Amino acid sequence: MTRPEAQLLIVGAGPAGCLAAVTAASVGMTSLLIDPAPIPGGSLWQIGHLANWPGFSDGPSYARVLGAHLAGLDGHCSYVQAQVTTIEATEDLVRATLADGSSVAGEALIVATGVHTAKSTEVSWITCTEAFPPITGASPVDLGACTVVLGGDRPLGTWLRTHPNADRKLTVCYPERDGYKVEEVRSDERVQLLPVRAVSVTGTGPYTVDILRADGGQDTVEADSVLTNIGTVPTALPGLAVGEDGFCPPAAQHPRVVTAGDLTARDGQRVSTAAGDGADAALTLYSRFRRQAV
Ligand SMILES: Cc1cc2nc3c(=O)[nH]c(=O)nc-3n(C[C@H](O)[C@H](O)[C@H](O)COP(=O)(O)OP(=O)(O)OC[C@H]3O[C@@H](n4cnc5c(N)ncnc54)[C@H](O)[C@@H]3O)c2cc1C
Repeated sequence: MTRPEAQLLIVGAGPAGCLAAVTAASVGMTSLLIDPAPIPGGSLWQIGHLANWPGFSDGPSYARVLGAHLAGLDGHCSYVQAQVTTIEATEDLVRATLADGSSVAGEALIVATGVHTAKSTEVSWITCTEAFPPITGASPVDLGACTVVLGGDRPLGTWLRTHPNADRKLTVCYPERDGYKVEEVRSDERVQLLPVRAVSVTGTGPYTVDILRADGGQDTVEADSVLTNIGTVPTALPGLAVGEDGFCPPAAQHPRVVTAGDLTARDGQRVSTAAGDGADAALTLYSRFRRQAV
């Protein structure tokens, strides 16, 4: 029989995973906090200005406080720097398989792997064989005369404001549900906005972009460059129950598994909701599996 390495396995060390570990320790549970990053904090490290988490004006300063707190949990939490590839839950235990092929076991599992920037190859409305580079970081001088942008997410507006003198024309293809996001760039003469149902990209540069417009019409654009601006998708691990929208709601999981933070739903993605979710996940699993045992 497999011996659990810790009572609780926590995958992902953003605010949700960190608060899960802190809360688990507060009720006497031991945890392994697993994340490929060398230090905890997750997306907090990317938040240059934080206005909605009292006490902290940026993400990194909160990440540092969390890291110091976790290090002081008196042996209740061990940080494991590793990528989890799959998870599995049985009647008796949970198991996380790591990228090196080894695995760790526990009594219960919290998955808080957040969201990641979507590649053009992983969304259903785009057909292509190449993962095109994101608009963030694209230099105007590297773009050809005709550039197609796949997706209408907010970095488009940031790019246009960052490069006010770039004279490149951008054809922006976006699903109708993202219409509200492109409003801020509608008056910029450098963009042509095209709500679409589907886009297919072929060629290796120049590219042929076949567009099925939202109104049912069809267009073909010959593009010198293609960039992505699709936003984020949930980082769902194999072994989790996944909804139609790709997110992993806690109620759909095995009784030994609770999901937390950005991974769970499109709405409410905030530091505060992630932290609360993580704490709640730890107490839920404590109630289910430990309270009777202590
Ligand atoms: C640029 C930016 C600015 C933001 N600004 C704000 C803001 O001002 N206010 C606000 O409230 N929110 C803001 N957010 C959102 C906020 O950062 C998130 O809501 C919050 O961090 C979500 O926490 P989480 O723990 O669910 O996920 P994350 O913080 O994303 O952490 C997920 C962790 O899971 C790990 N992971 C992923 N896959 C695996 C795997 N296979 N195995 C092991 N570990 C894995 C990742 O390495 C990461 O450390 C911002 C986000 C970004 C990107």
